[in-house]
Amino acid sequence: MPTLSSRITSLNAGGGDGWEIFYKARALVAAGQPVTELTIGEPDTKTDPAILAEMHRAASAGHTGYAVVPGTPALRDAIAARVTERSGVLTTRENVLVTPGGQSALFAAHMAACTPGGAALMVEPHYVTYPGTIRAAGAVPHSVQTRPERSFFPDPADLRRSAATSGASSLLINTPNNPTGAVYPRETLTGIADVAQEQDLWVISDEVYDTQIWEGAHLSPRALPGMAERTMVIGSLSKSHAMTGSRIGWLIAPEAAIAALIDLATNTTYGVPGYIQDAALYALTADATLEPRVAEPFRRRRALAQGILAAQNTVGLVPSGGAMYLFLDVRATGLSGIAFADALLDAHRIAVMPGESFGPSAAGFIRVALTLPDAEFSEALSTLAGFAAGLAKAA
Ligand code: PMP
Repeated sequence: MPTLSSRITSLNAGGGDGWEIFYKARALVAAGQPVTELTIGEPDTKTDPAILAEMHRAASAGHTGYAVVPGTPALRDAIAARVTERSGVLTTRENVLVTPGGQSALFAAHMAACTPGGAALMVEPHYVTYPGTIRAAGAVPHSVQTRPERSFFPDPADLRRSAATSGASSLLINTPNNPTGAVYPRETLTGIADVAQEQDLWVISDEVYDTQIWEGAHLSPRALPGMAERTMVIGSLSKSHAMTGSRIGWLIAPEAAIAALIDLATNTTYGVPGYIQDAALYALTADATLEPRVAEPFRRRRALAQGILAAQNTVGLVPSGGAMYLFLDVRATGLSGIAFADALLDAHRIAVMPGESFGPSAAGFIRVALTLPDAEFSEALSTLAGFAAGLAKAA
């Protein structure tokens, strides 16, 4: 076949390590072996039947044709109202682009913010697709590392230095954070806002976990003084309403950016199916209990984990404020995150993500998804802790 473009073949170049554990677990499952899966962020609850009923009603009523590209007016209005209410920043339909999931919004935001070949900053450890998304948009990812001693909050001095030396036009942040669970406090976000204004950066704020706050409060950088004009916010119903497979999310941005991004959507996704948008409108407006019902099991399992881990001192639980994961420090075992995850899979058929998969700042850590029924989850975590204690004793 003719040569593939370097743009497509280099998307995952230099990506995180440790994904072999995930694929090894998948291969074991495919071979019929029981594996306790605590790897990816897939809620174990399914989309609520009432949301599915609305999807079915809308499709049966004929909403199966091309939908308007930026999103239906009703859904854009509902998203704008939600963002206004939660952030305090007046947001209208003209600030909203409905996208096929948060992932598509991340790509669109970088297409809008970055020039071809230009630098884009991302805080690390980070969600796995970030570097590839930036490369897909034609830009060059630059990591800004964070440290466990600083709760994985970015240091504005590091951001300032990276922005100045790279000449970046954007900074991608994620709070509540995947993988660390960090919820950035006001002073961190104020520091980020100062750097963004000094260095004339777009802030691309991935807030797909904003309904999963266990401690503290979610603050969007868009709500800080002077920031609405330089912030793009990524939202999604994947995690808030257990709708990962429906591929529905949004991008919030200044009006002129949304106008330009509608052209991008016209030439790429051509919008989101109308019946999915109607189901999303229902999910956001019809029943206020839908959202807490999805978040509740994660809150409960996090509390169970705190109890289990308080009874031992090998595995460190990174203090976190949100998101559907535990971030665990396994450095006392003497193993890397990758080696620990691999050994745990071999010994106990429990699959977790090595921290290294999210960048070098997370070496020696593992990420555990809070996505199994309580009893199974507790048992797996106790086994993990016992396994770590045995390794630490031998180390
Ligand atoms: N951002 C983060 C931090 C995520 O963890 C995910 C999914 N795991 C996404 C974005 C993308 O989510 P979706 O495209 O399903 O909305």
